[in-house]
Amino acid sequence: MKMRFHPFTSGTYVVDRGIMDDINWGQYYEHPIPMFAIRHPKGIVVFDTGHNHRGLKDPQAWYGKSIEGFKSINITEGDCLPAQLGKVGIDPAEVTHVVLSHLHIDHAGEMESFPKARFVVRAAELSYAWWPAPNMRHTYVVNDLKETRFFNYLELRDGEEFDVFGDGALTCIHTPGHTPGHQSLAVRLPDHDKPMMLCADACYTPFTLEGNPYCAGLMWNLDEFHRSLGRLRHYRDIGYEMWYGHDMAAWTERIKAFG
Ligand SMILES: [Zn+2]
Repeated sequence: MKMRFHPFTSGTYVVDRGIMDDINWGQYYEHPIPMFAIRHPKGIVVFDTGHNHRGLKDPQAWYGKSIEGFKSINITEGDCLPAQLGKVGIDPAEVTHVVLSHLHIDHAGEMESFPKARFVVRAAELSYAWWPAPNMRHTYVVNDLKETRFFNYLELRDGEEFDVFGDGALTCIHTPGHTPGHQSLAVRLPDHDKPMMLCADACYTPFTLEGNPYCAGLMWNLDEFHRSLGRLRHYRDIGYEMWYGHDMAAWTERIKAFG
């Protein structure tokens, strides 16, 4: 099977920009909720699963406090990952591996749709997601996670770099700060001119990447966040194409190559 790369967004959120940069509070901003499927000769991999369609009918009951910070949620069932996979001819049951950047509401929502897959996650993120610190408790949705405790997890250690298929195509890189067990995914496609770095929430926007000291109001550890940004800037400087976590302009530009 030839490698193929499918970027999707599970709709959009409108949030206060201050959540992203800790500067422009009161300015509202619509951003994508990226998730990806990658076909590889040895399996079909999903990186991040977006927002969970199960909560759309009654968001207050499903998400509770988790959605209070959003100005609006613009998501239909057709935007969510199972439907998006269907549009490119992938049955969720065919997905062999799910790599999760972290387990927040907009990244791990659809875990339950992949009960047979192997989940490649950081051990530190799993334990934190189940019992986060009080200031981060609303960012993980118990209803999204409650059926997933006995799934098949490959739990990576802090700092470990993990090559999913042993051929350099997909490499998990620990980028803590936003959460303790956050990871980004380096992707090498044989027919794309540059290696790609799927940053997820280690770097929301091009502005974040520059390492402005006042960046990001939603944060587990600011020191670690900046160390991870330094690492991501290094990848940019050696020629990686950066895929930011929540930047509409960059997203719209990047996906053109994969339309
Ligand atoms: Zn997050």
